[in-house]
Amino acid sequence: MEFKSINPYNGEEIAVYHSISKEELAEKLDNSQIAFQSWKKVPLAERCALLKKAGQILRDNVEEYAKMITLEMGKPISESRGEVKKCALVCDYYADNAESFLADEVIESDASKSFVSHQPLGGVFAVMPWNFPFWQVLRYAAPTLTSGNVGLLKHASNVFGCAQLIEDVFTKAGYPKNVFQSLVVNHDVTEQIVSHEGVRAITLTGSERAGSAVASLAGKHIKKSLLELGGSNAFIVWEDADIDKTVKIALTARMMNCGQSCIAAKRFIILEGVYDEFVEKFTEAVKTLKSGDPMDDDTTLGPLARIDLADELQKQVKNSIDQGAKLILGGKQNGCSHEPTVLGDVVPGMDAFDQESFGPLAAMIKAKSIEHAFELSENSKFGLGVTVCTKNIELALSHVDKVSDGAYFINELVKSDPRLPFGGTKLSGYGRELSKDGMMEFVNRKTVYVK
Ligand code: NDP
Repeated sequence: MEFKSINPYNGEEIAVYHSISKEELAEKLDNSQIAFQSWKKVPLAERCALLKKAGQILRDNVEEYAKMITLEMGKPISESRGEVKKCALVCDYYADNAESFLADEVIESDASKSFVSHQPLGGVFAVMPWNFPFWQVLRYAAPTLTSGNVGLLKHASNVFGCAQLIEDVFTKAGYPKNVFQSLVVNHDVTEQIVSHEGVRAITLTGSERAGSAVASLAGKHIKKSLLELGGSNAFIVWEDADIDKTVKIALTARMMNCGQSCIAAKRFIILEGVYDEFVEKFTEAVKTLKSGDPMDDDTTLGPLARIDLADELQKQVKNSIDQGAKLILGGKQNGCSHEPTVLGDVVPGMDAFDQESFGPLAAMIKAKSIEHAFELSENSKFGLGVTVCTKNIELALSHVDKVSDGAYFINELVKSDPRLPFGGTKLSGYGRELSKDGMMEFVNRKTVYVK
């Protein structure tokens, strides 16, 4: 089977990748299992030094890696550079903190001594998406390899060039052979990978459909899984919010990466007293975005990564208008490109409210009160994160327990940070990435007891 890497901005073919055979895959899986036997014995300090080196290689090659991201999935080049630099940060973070995270954890009990010791599991198989093709992989690989596991990556089939470059980062940094391998395979061989005895856990970032399929296989073979799926984050604006500041945050929260982010703000829930002002100022701000060739430094809105993703967004826009939403700005699709679109008077029951919109579509929703805003926010099958904008921080903090999502941000867009746990609830998935939590997901927390 062959996979074509297509530049979504101009439709040009970048490269063709050929999937490996089942026999070649079996050999790679066996090699991974063999590599684990020696990698787990490498002293932690050495593993951390290699990770630091990987971070340095990312920094040294920002331009090359950023260019591949932009060519393969269309993100503006300035954002691609930011993504590669953030990958270097996550390497530094785990290189600096792994020792304390993996240290024995003493717990008082009836024993004369009892503690939790941390050991790696083995192979951790990652199924990753194209939207942050470097970041999604590095945020899993940095903690997972450093705790002594080995990594196997099945990247999205439109970003195999990025996958190859990521494997090169680890090779250049001096990681032993087969500690991290990128597999050029179609997802029909997923069960061959998941069922291999060397693979002990699976992590997937992507759609509900993919998450459910892969987690079912993990369950069938009794392997741990972590899922980071879609989201439809609410961005709530209270009446006391500084609207100008809030609009700036809202614009990035929705339009970064052409709206193709699981944690993007998708449902803007605005108290009715400031609804008109917010919608007007937000719409003016959207008009300042510069669509164009994502390789140009001043482009702020690129194309969507694939034509089917643009088609899907267009369908959601059209359906929402048919369902009663008001078209305030944009609305048109041209191949992989989609105009940044603002829809007003959105209510539950419309596609723009009920579904995840993975593109530059902002749904404006009116709330009668703070309570009503939280009710609307909770009216979602997803649970990644919520933003509340207000000057009354104390009041906002008193509502933490009203939000069932994995994150609650006040006066800031929901974003990931290597130091903070990241993950969702409901159909957004389970498990946590980043921070100490992310490292603990793929280790054996072994109880040691001395009578
Ligand atoms: P997918 O979920 O299909 O792709 C993500 C990864 O899962 C890819 O590596 C893909 O491989 C793989 N995959 C897909 N189906 C299976 C399967 N049955 N078994 C094993 N692996 C599988 O996402 P799409 O690219 O199609 O995007 C569709 C929607 O998913 C988006 O519109 C968005 O709503 C959501 N999404 C969410 C992301 C997030 O960050 N949480 C990221 C990307 C998408 P392959 O490329 O070979 O199909």
